[in-house]
Amino acid sequence: MKKTIVAIGAHLDDIELAAGGTLAKAVKEGHDIHMIVMSQSGYTNYNGEVMRTNEVAMQEGRNAAEVLGCKDLDILDFSNKDIAYDSRAVEAIEKRINIIKPDIIFTHWPFDTHQAHVAVGKSTISAARRYNTIYFFEPISPSGRSYVGFRPQLYVDITDVIDTKVKALDQHVTERNKYGDYWIRGVQARAAFRGYEMNRMYGEAFEVLREELVL
Ligand SMILES: [Zn+2]
Repeated sequence: MKKTIVAIGAHLDDIELAAGGTLAKAVKEGHDIHMIVMSQSGYTNYNGEVMRTNEVAMQEGRNAAEVLGCKDLDILDFSNKDIAYDSRAVEAIEKRINIIKPDIIFTHWPFDTHQAHVAVGKSTISAARRYNTIYFFEPISPSGRSYVGFRPQLYVDITDVIDTKVKALDQHVTERNKYGDYWIRGVQARAAFRGYEMNRMYGEAFEVLREELVL
């Protein structure tokens, strides 16, 4: 049965990092995919130097979404670093998911170390209170070095789409330049580890907030 899936991230690259394989696979299987990114994702460092402009980030994000096969990338205008868990964020998400009417929602794990990821995760929980199936992204280091541990509860075999996931991340040229090849290596290593846990080559893992059992 065809499913409608939405992934909600704070920044352009968050969704690809956590769920790029799952989304690419879903597209291959004929499901409908939507991406909502809360910020235009340009940012400065703490000295005020521009690390990534909004224009470049949005172009890289659009390229990555295209690689995954996602035709609906909605980029909102919240602040990159200071998204709040408040009614503005909740209502922005709620308005969009009420149009999309997703069967499955993916969003940030609310114990992530990035304050904007936390806010987007919590805002999605509030916005999606009438939706039945919600999964959390597995944060990649350093976002996951939190005070509680991530519990992998839902696994997706991404063996046949790992190359698509990596290719999508390759579109984020500014992020690749910032983190170097270790960035991709880390993503591949995690996918290999999750794949090993599930007796496959590559996998992605998610935490379950709640899930509807369809019989
Ligand atoms: Zn992020």
